[in-house]
Amino acid sequence: MDRTVRTRFAPSPTGFMHIGNLRTGLYAYLFARKNNGTFILRIEDTDQERKVDGAVEMVYRTLKLAGIEHDEGPDKDGGYGPYVQTERMGIYKQYAEKLVELGGAYYCFCDKKRLESLEDAGGVHTYDKHCRNLDPAEVRRRLDAGEPYVIRQKVPEGVVSEYEDMVFGKISVESADIEDGILLKSDGLPTYNFANVVDDHLMGITHVIRGTEYLSSTPKYNLIYDAFGWERPTYMHLPPIMKDATRKLSKRFGDANFEDFISKGYLPEAIVNYIALLGWCPKDNREKMTLREMTEAFDVDGISHSSSIFDEAKMRWLNGEYLKAMSKEEYYNVALPWIEKAIGGKNYDKAELAALMQTRADILGEIPEKLAFLNNYGEYDLDMYAHQKMKVDKSVALAAVRLAADALRSLDEWSEEAIKECVKQGAERGGMKGGQVMFSMRVALTGEPVTPGGAIEMAVVLGKEESLARLEFSEKLLERNL
Ligand code: GLU
Repeated sequence: MDRTVRTRFAPSPTGFMHIGNLRTGLYAYLFARKNNGTFILRIEDTDQERKVDGAVEMVYRTLKLAGIEHDEGPDKDGGYGPYVQTERMGIYKQYAEKLVELGGAYYCFCDKKRLESLEDAGGVHTYDKHCRNLDPAEVRRRLDAGEPYVIRQKVPEGVVSEYEDMVFGKISVESADIEDGILLKSDGLPTYNFANVVDDHLMGITHVIRGTEYLSSTPKYNLIYDAFGWERPTYMHLPPIMKDATRKLSKRFGDANFEDFISKGYLPEAIVNYIALLGWCPKDNREKMTLREMTEAFDVDGISHSSSIFDEAKMRWLNGEYLKAMSKEEYYNVALPWIEKAIGGKNYDKAELAALMQTRADILGEIPEKLAFLNNYGEYDLDMYAHQKMKVDKSVALAAVRLAADALRSLDEWSEEAIKECVKQGAERGGMKGGQVMFSMRVALTGEPVTPGGAIEMAVVLGKEESLARLEFSEKLLERNL
């Protein structure tokens, strides 16, 4: 029977949301959308000790900014809730007990001391199935006597547990290699594995999409489905995203955190586009895609088996492409906070500054540093006025700056064309080369060796008054230092 596709994103609130976590959520979302299915958000917070304050809120903020909208979740009941594991704690014990009845699990009374006696030199033990075949009457007696217990999975012996992963193909593990692991702890709470399986089943998840770290424990999970007589979901495991050739991205170390990129001035849609390509490639090899286009193009065949390396330079480039493709108004809106930061309350024309920056900053966070010249004028380094190739030295620079100031003083229309024409005519009158004047003028206007635009553009964004003040200041500075 074909079931309606239901996928879920099940983050654990144990730290930041790095790019790899978000990509898992993105693929689960794309798969659901592509198949007209339902995308569910579940918060897997069984491990309260590792819970990080604010991490749940961050999951919501990140998904919202990324445009990855869930259909069901803690804030959107779809009839399968609660969607937060700590709110489901009453559920797991009864399922563990049911599994005992069904022969897929058993009570274990082994105490800490006994388990420690099984440890190897590294302090690791594999449970020796000591309680696996206890007489039911004895179990009853010990439970009635209130002895502490856990419930363990009764892994069938002598079988090979196999499944077909949508990305990695056939995965099989011999049952001899699977431990009779704990499903329900002595405090009556589930282990992570058990809660995950029970929830996926009860929430009707048809496709489990997650990182490869779960690839080899999935056969063990499947044995729980089998013991309950539940239909197994289909699995899609995703290869890891690496920081470099040997290290995976890690939320523990705050690597490649989505929100950090936003605060550096990346656009959410560009980040999402970039991470979609980390491990997946559409049939036509397109790179720049909207979320909607990705949904249409998403197919499992395009998912890679090998890990990919997170390359910030590439993401930066893609972000620049997004910025350039925006309309003037859109760009103005996203760039405004950064432009305001750059001008610090001064009276510059923000629209002119936005127009200047749109093609010149790959990420918005570069704007303040690229516009640093707006606040930067004073005792410039005099060496900057020298340009050997153009045959500019301090005295040529002085003549050029004076000429530009004189020409521009009477100019009324402060536009790029008008300034250009005016300076050009001034240079001709004064018998100077255009390049010499432009070079000297740019240094005088900005005090920087590298600027986001040439002299004319700098004059436009500075405005007439400020431009003249700067030219006159340089004139005096050069005069004094000849
Ligand atoms: N809570 C798990 C994690 O954050 C996800 C496990 C799963 O998707 O099954 O890694």
